[in-house]
Order: sequence, then C-alpha cells, then structure tokens
Amino acid sequence: MDYPDHFDVIVIGGGHAGTEAALAAARTGVKTLLLTHNIETLGQMSCNPAIGGIGKSHLVKEIDALGGAMAIATDKGGIQFRTLNSRKGPAVRATRAQADRILYKAAIREILENQPNLQLFQQAADDLIVEGESVKGVVTQAGLRFFANNIVLTVGTFLGGKIHIGLDNYSGGRAGDPPSIALADRLRELPLRVDRLKTGTPPRIDARSVDFSVMQEQPGDTPTPVMSFMGSLADHPRQISCYITHTNERTHDILRSGLDRSPMYTGVIDGVGPRYCPSVEDKIVRFADKTSHQVFVEPEGLTTHELYPNGISTSLPFDIQLAAVRSIKGFENAFITRPGYAIEYDYFNPQDLKHTLETKLINGLYFAGQINGTTGYEEAGAQGLLAGVNAALRAQEKEQWYPRRDEAYLGVLVDDLITMGTSEPYRMFTSRAEYRLILREDNADLRLTEKGRELGLVSDERWQRFCDKREAIELENQRLKETWIQPGSAEAELLNGQLQQPISREYNLQDLVKRPELNYAAVAGLKGEPVSDPQVAEQVEIQIKYAGYIDRQKEDIDKVRRQEDTLLPVDFDYASVGGLSNELTAKLEQVRPESIAQAARIQGMTPAAISLLLIHLKKKQ
Ligand code: FAD
Repeated sequence: MDYPDHFDVIVIGGGHAGTEAALAAARTGVKTLLLTHNIETLGQMSCNPAIGGIGKSHLVKEIDALGGAMAIATDKGGIQFRTLNSRKGPAVRATRAQADRILYKAAIREILENQPNLQLFQQAADDLIVEGESVKGVVTQAGLRFFANNIVLTVGTFLGGKIHIGLDNYSGGRAGDPPSIALADRLRELPLRVDRLKTGTPPRIDARSVDFSVMQEQPGDTPTPVMSFMGSLADHPRQISCYITHTNERTHDILRSGLDRSPMYTGVIDGVGPRYCPSVEDKIVRFADKTSHQVFVEPEGLTTHELYPNGISTSLPFDIQLAAVRSIKGFENAFITRPGYAIEYDYFNPQDLKHTLETKLINGLYFAGQINGTTGYEEAGAQGLLAGVNAALRAQEKEQWYPRRDEAYLGVLVDDLITMGTSEPYRMFTSRAEYRLILREDNADLRLTEKGRELGLVSDERWQRFCDKREAIELENQRLKETWIQPGSAEAELLNGQLQQPISREYNLQDLVKRPELNYAAVAGLKGEPVSDPQVAEQVEIQIKYAGYIDRQKEDIDKVRRQEDTLLPVDFDYASVGGLSNELTAKLEQVRPESIAQAARIQGMTPAAISLLLIHLKKKQ
C-alpha cells in the first residue's frame, strides 16, 4: 500500500543520529517522518551509558547550540557528572556524564513526541525507492510505501549485523534487536562503496554480586557540571558514584588462554575495530608488557542493579569472560547479566558523500551516524543533526549548510570523513582539530547559536537567553576595559601581595586579568560589580587570558579561508594537470575536493601539487 501522506523528509533509524536528524528537520518546519524498527528503542544507548568526554562533549555542546536534544536528555538522565582535564587549558576541558539509560531514553522520547511536524512510525525499512539518480521513498517490511524526496539513513550497526561471542555467531543489529538484512542487500546494489567494521561491548554485571569496598570510589564533581546551555542542576536526577578496579596478571592469563577461541584472533571477524576503544583481549596482546588495566565500574541507572565495566569489552567465549571477570578485585563473586560480544556491520565509504552528508550519486539520499564509519553517540548525533537540517533545507529548495573546520568540531568530523575516508571506526578527539583554542566546549553556544537560529533550529526561549548572555559578556568586557586601578591605591595594594611585579602604573581591569598570577575572580570586584553568572565570568576570563593565542589562530584561519574560497569544479580534469603524480591524480579523482583547502588536506598532498592545481585553475579561467 502507498501511504497517503507525502513527507518532505523521512529519517530511517531512531538511534542517536536518527533522532537528531528527525528533530532538526521538523524544527525547520518541514513535514518529517521518523521510521524505525521499534519505538521503544528510540535513543537507546547500545553500549556504555555515558555521554561526553574529551572531544565528544564538544560535539554534544555543538548539537545543543544548534537546538538538538542530546545535551538536554543528558541533563535529565545524568547520574554522575565530571569535568575532565579540569587542570588543563580550556581548549581540552570536557564534560562527561554517566547516564541512567532509562531516563536518557525517556527524555529523548518525550522530546520526539512533543516535536511539531514530526511523526513516528514503527516498521523496518527494507527497500529504497530510487528513480533515475534520485531517491523517492522507502518500502517497509510489510510492503508499505512512504514517499519523500529527501531521506536520511541512520541505521547504525544494523546493516548485515553479525554478533560474535567466541566462535559462535548469529545475525543481529545489536544484542536483542534484529539486523537489517534486506536493506543491506538493497544498498549493496547502489553505486556506493561498502565495507565491514566491527565494535564490541563488555559483559554486564549485577551490582549485588560486587564488593565495592575494595574498589576506589569516584564521585561526581562539585559543583556539578551541566551539559546543556538550557539545562540546570534542577534537571539532574539523584547523583551517584562510579568505582575503579583493575585487571591483573591472572586476568590476562585467563584471557590469553581463550585467544584460540577468539573470533578476532582466529580470523572469523573481518571488520576492523575501534583502535581507541580496543577489546580487553586486544589490549593484552598489543600491550603485552602491561600487567594491569583500569576498569571503570559504571552504574547503568538508578533503578537497575546492572553495571557497565568500562575497559573490558570482549568477544571471547562466555566461560573465559566469566573466569576473567571473577579474577578482578571486587568481582570475585560477580554474576554476569549479559555476555560481552562483538558486532560486525556494513558501513559506507564517507568519501561518497558531500559535506552536507548527501550522497554524491543519489540525489536526496543522506547518510549519518555509524554507517559513515564513525563510532559513538556524539559523533552520530552531530552528523544526524547536519543531515537532517540539510535534507529539510533541500526540501525547501534553500541553500544547504555545513560548518567549516574553524567553526565547529562537527566541521572537523565531516571534513575528515569526506576528505580522508576511514578504514577503522572514527571517533572524535580534540587533537583532530587544528583550531582547538577557538573550538572550545565552553563557547559552542557563541560559535553556533546564531547560525542555528538562522536555520530555524533554535527556539525563541534559547535565542533570548543566548542574546542576554552574549550582551552580558560584551558589557563586562567593556567595563573591565574602562575601569582603571591607580598605583598606590587601596585596590593596587590588595593585589600587590599576589603579584611578582607590584603595580607601578595605571592598569585597567582587563590588563590585570591577563596577568598569570590573577584571574577574573581576583580582579573583577576591585571596583564595581562583577557578573553573577559563572558562564559569563568564565567566558570573559578565557577571552582575556587567551586573547593573544586566539588572535594568532584567527590569522591562520583567514589564510586558510582564502584557499577555502578557491573552488574546484566537480568535473575538474585532474589527469590533464601536467606534473601531478599518478598517485595524487587518483586520490584527487577519488575525493573530488570542493576547494583548494580541502585538496590540501588529502593525505600525501604536497605544496607543489597544490601550486600545480592553482596554476591549472588560473589557465582555465
Ligand atoms: P544506532 O544507535 O545503532 O541506531 C540505529 C537505529 O536504526 C536503531 O534505532 C535501529 O532500530 C534502527 N534501524 C536499523 N535498521 C533499520 C531499518 N532497516 N529500518 C528501520 N529502522 C532501522 N560507541 C562508542 O563510542 N564506544 C563504544 O565502546 C561503543 N561500543 C559499541 C558496542 C556495540 C556492541 C554497539 C552495537 C555499539 C557500540 N558503540 C560504541 C557505538 C554506538 O552505539 C554507536 O556509535 C551509536 O549508537 C551510533 O548511532 P546511530 O544513530 O548511527 O546508530
């Protein structure tokens, strides 16, 4: 049957990418359908119940600044919040929240159910309707045909999903869910490059069988961080601790004794796993000299006894899993509630996508999340939002949008994927961004809210609050600049005790904040009223203290932006560029970069080759 309503955008898959995609599309005002296997699993965390962390929280706060759901749901579901790298510079500081997976899912569901212009439908998508070079709709398992000219595919680890525990394996999308076999077969018929990746998860443990008294307790931070710009401490449920224990040599011996039944080490698994989130068997093989590895013992929620032992992801046979777990301090009597497993799945080469996440070969078809070779909820959510908003912009015949590398980690993520592709699950790190000092988690709102508002993603309430904050920062910066301290004054005397060089001439408060021995808190109240909002105070302090470095990065950005503006036509004939090596010609033909700057980021590209491209371009003009 053909469904009678025509949609502007259909999103397939209700994971982290799909929910953000559907919300973003609907927020811009277009008629959107979210089609997913099971409405009960919307926003489900397939692996560890935690959001954020280094590099990842930057993405969460960017999603938030663009009006997305992830940070708000984290505040409603977070049961332990910490600021990582709190003693390091602001560029690498990151918020991490342990989440109650039930509360998190409920928060996502509530946001989805209350989003105008969005309908939910429960069915597996088995087929895409493609006419010529354009997508037109989707066919469900029961033969229902839904029509839309813009479709966002976000089916995670489900395409051809195969679950491995030891040498046993079976088809599955993740534990407890069916795989997408029909859709995977259909997609393999399309002219897109597809390959296999794998990821894994640890066994879960019943907290009632664990001795926490021998583990190190890790409470959340005080004051408790908040994830969303719109969030507050009042959103947080009860806060609880995580714990830390360690593997030992006996654990490693047990794990080693199971390697001959490991699907990874016997060649049963072909897919490449995440290098930065290796399985415990991988760790003991790769770091054979290490006698111990940390295990973070993380609660899965407030209403369950299940624990997530972070650090011992494994696909070894169950008897080995149980013995290894029970050799760990505090886990001697552990009861495993779910075995660990690995999953292999299809992913698509992201080099076949545009920066908007639309496929290069099928108009109106967008890909987001794990199917683009990434790993992680945050990476998926960020891509989902971008694909969703672009699908909606296309539906409205408006110009599509993507952030540049100097505007957002989302820009870095998408540009890395599209320019370099990936042969292993890609996760975000701050080290992937060249403009770290500008792309901080604390200024994600200042970087992106205005754009989000322009795209129709940001609510009136958020916009008003943002404008108030931006104005307060400007006013405070102005006040500090215009407030002077005289040498010998009572204020100067107050500070001199803290300074290596006493105040010998007139200084404004801004200059004083800049001094390494001082900060905003020490200076702002010397004359006049400091701001009471800690977020405004933090912003003012960072902007003043790092002004020199930030200005230097802005100069670098201006230089690269000039290259970014030098566009390369899609049909550029690289073979006719004299002097370009065969290898670079092949790479350029494969990536088809949109600008000189993107060409420069291709692995192996040389300044000489870029000059050849520029000369060739000039000749053609
Ligand atoms: P998913 O969250 O997988 O969502 C896919 C959605 O699509 C689901 O709702 C599904 O029901 C739906 N769907 C699938 N096929 C169809 C269809 N044909 N029709 C309709 N709906 C469909 N990330 C980390 O950062 N660290 C880890 O250690 C880690 N380990 C993992 C271990 C395992 C075993 C798994 C499964 C995942 C792991 N991940 C890990 C990855 C993390 O779960 C994903 O990156 C993230 O969930 C991807 O989000 P997504 O929206 O792309 O896909």
